[in-house]
Parts: sequence; structure tokens; C-alpha cells
Amino acid sequence: PLRVRFAPSPTGYLHIGGARTALFNYLYARRFGGTFILRIEDTDLERSTPESLKAILDGLKWLDIGWDEGPEKEGPHAPYFQTQRLDTYRDHADQLIAAGKAYRCYCTQEEIRERRAQAEKEGRAYKYEGTCRDRKEAPEGRASVVRFKMPSAEGSVSFDDLVLGKITKEYSDLDDWVMLRGDGIPLYNYGCVIDDHLMDITVVSRGQEHVNSTFPQLMLYQALGWEPPRFAHLPLILGPDREKLSKRKHKEADVMLHKANGILPEALLNFVIRLGWSHGNEEVISRPQMTEWFDFKDVGSTSGVWNPDKLLWLNQHYLKTLPPSDIAARLAPFLAQQGQTLAADDVRLERFVLAFRERAKTLVEMATMALPYLKQGVTLDEKAAAKHLAGDSLALLRQVREEAASLSGWEVAALDAVIKTVSERAGVGMGKVAQPVRVAVTGNTTSPGIGETLQLLGKDEALRRLDAALA
Ligand code: GLU
Repeated sequence: PLRVRFAPSPTGYLHIGGARTALFNYLYARRFGGTFILRIEDTDLERSTPESLKAILDGLKWLDIGWDEGPEKEGPHAPYFQTQRLDTYRDHADQLIAAGKAYRCYCTQEEIRERRAQAEKEGRAYKYEGTCRDRKEAPEGRASVVRFKMPSAEGSVSFDDLVLGKITKEYSDLDDWVMLRGDGIPLYNYGCVIDDHLMDITVVSRGQEHVNSTFPQLMLYQALGWEPPRFAHLPLILGPDREKLSKRKHKEADVMLHKANGILPEALLNFVIRLGWSHGNEEVISRPQMTEWFDFKDVGSTSGVWNPDKLLWLNQHYLKTLPPSDIAARLAPFLAQQGQTLAADDVRLERFVLAFRERAKTLVEMATMALPYLKQGVTLDEKAAAKHLAGDSLALLRQVREEAASLSGWEVAALDAVIKTVSERAGVGMGKVAQPVRVAVTGNTTSPGIGETLQLLGKDEALRRLDAALA
């Protein structure tokens, strides 16, 4: 049975690369009836924090990438945190040492540092020289790490990547790498293999930066007599500046920043799936289509490039096509953030969505457009007022005020009819009437349809604003 995993290190927020890895694994599992495991690689004790763990889980939840086994879920292979699996790593290391496939190394970090510096000075890549390989006894008073023992014969190790095809490395390019530190904490390559095997992972998909780690990992599978999983290494993601997308340089690498910016998770997910994967020329891809179409064979090896306009375009697409009531519920917190707390069932929320979704690209923009309708009073644009709130326009405005005040309801059609009546009576175009009204109630010359605009304001506030303009 297919089992895939996402194995983040909780050393910071969920970034776009991580979200993509999670998404691809998740979709692959969903498409082919597999299981998606979330494993927390928290072995960097200094940099791993509970806040980061929470941020990662929150990010996955926001994007609706659910896991079948892992934190908050448990499952048959618990625990899913590497720091809770130290006994397992120690046991397997002991077995490998007993089998002559790994050994204790007593070289100090300082010694290694010096030798590495020496190698660099001589212009050669440093490889551990095997000082402790054949040591019979432990030197006194020295701590040890456990190193993998590379075969001494010549040879090479290969794998057939689901994205990159066949890749090979000569043994001579690998060295006796450290598996376990003195304090029992595994290094990435070691913990990863032990867990992937014990968690029955059948396909490992991760960022391309891990391609080179795959070779030492495969050597370990070999030494343990375990069958390795398949691998699918994902292409790089580049920022808008075509530099590798990184937390340090690119603010957009932060998944939750997009939430704060008023991007819908549906849009971000749609954006992320297209970073390195495609299905013909499809750009708008629904959730069911994602599960129907996703496969590693359609992941390319060329980098995905961040296109900010495309994200906004997708976001507006989802603002326009998801049910207005759904968008309304998501708009509310953005209004609250700007000081306007509306009840969840306030009819105005959905009206704002319908009025602004053609122009707003984000929920933040939508809230900003709605704000003037919720505040009391209006700030007039000077130019607009000078042009539209003077002379004959004022008489028309007064008529609109009277007609509107006498309406029993406050519906768009009735309000539009008022404008029509007044303009016909005066023998002028509707614009001549609508524009002064618009300026009077919104402060400037652009707004949704005039009936809609008046309705958004509500009767009391609309009349107040007309009165203020006429005063
Ligand atoms: N903890 C590693 C990372 O976050 C996992 C890499 C892998 O998937 O093997 O990059």
C-alpha cells in the first residue's frame, strides 16, 4: 500500500516550499488511495520550538491539507516526533556497529574542523579520513559519535527518481558520515531512513535540495538490508526576482502572510500546485481536479517561478466564484480588523461581496472598499465635490433626497427608480443625477451601481449623507 510523508523541521513558519511538498504528497496519497503521514523532525534542539510546530500545523490546516497519521492524530507508527524515537535510533545504530557496518568515532569536532580547514586550504573537498574506522578500543575520556562505514570496494549507488530519472553517485564521492551524535540525537540522513522504513513509507517526495542526501540514505538501506522507497525530488521554487525562494529574502515564502493579506486558501493552493506541476494549460484547478489529476510524472524538473499577478488573479477568481455567503464569512474578520465588527448574519456582509468582488483582488481590498459604507459620515473629494455638488446638481440632489425619504423599503430597484424618475422629470440623463448622489454619499466618483451604493449604506446613513451635502 502507498504511504507517503511530509517531514518538516519545526524551526520556523510553514513556507511555500514546505506547503508544496505537503500538498503533492497529500494529493498523491488521495489520488492513489494511500496514506499521508506527518512526521516532525525536531532533532535540532536549539532551533525547534513549539511555536514553529503550531505554525506549521496551523498552516496545513488553513490550506486544508489533512494528514492521516501524525501529531494530534497518532496512528500505528507513533510517536511521530523524532525526539521521541531516540531509543529506536540507538538500537539500530548498535546493530549496525555489531554487524561492522558502522563504528564509533572519537575524533573531536575541533579535530574535524581543523582537518576540514586544512583540506579547504589545499583546495580539496573534505572527506572524513577514517581515523576511527578500525579502532579496537575506546580512547579514554572521549565522547563518541556513530559513523556509517562506507564499503571499501569501489562502486556506485543509483536510483530512479520519479521526477529526475536515473541518478548515480560513485562511492568515492561519499564518506563515512555521522549517523548519531554523542548525545543520541540522530543526524538527518540517519533518522530519516530509520523512520521512513519503520513507518512503511513507499514514496519519498521532498525538495530538490535533498537529492544528494539520497545517496548516503540509500547506502544505509543497503547496509540494513531494507528495500528503499521510491523518490520524487521536486524542482526549486524561484521568487519574483528569479532567486531561489527563501525565507530570508522573500516575504512571500510565508504561507500565513498570504492569509493576513486576504488571499483565500483555495487560491494559494491553486497557485502552489502550479509551482512545478502542470496539467496541460489548466490554470484554475479545483480541489477535486487536483486529486483527479496529480501525479509525480507531471512534475517537471524546471523551477517554478513566483508570479504575484497570477496569485491575485486566482484569488479574484475564487472571490468571484465561491458562494458569496462563504466569502462574506471570511470578509468579516478583515472588517473587524479595521474596526467594524458586524454580526455573522448581518446581510450587509454578503452585499459587500457582491458589490466589490469584481474590483477587489483580496479580502483586505474588499474590506477597505466596504469601510466607507460602515463609518459614519463621508470625506468629500474636493474636486469631485466642486464639480458635482454645485449649481443645478444640488436641486436634483434635493429631489432625490425627498423621493428616497418617502420610500417604504430600501431596495436597489426602488432606489434606481428614484434616480430615473428625477432625471426624467428634469429631462437630463441619469448620470447627471446619479453622479451628484454618488459624490454626496461616497465622497468620490466611483462606486458600485447607485441603487446598490445607497442600499449598502442603509436608509438612515444615506439620508444623513445627502443632507450633509445639501446643508
Ligand atoms: N526535515 C527535512 C526538511 O524539512 C525533511 C526532508 C525529507 O523530506 O526527507 O527538509
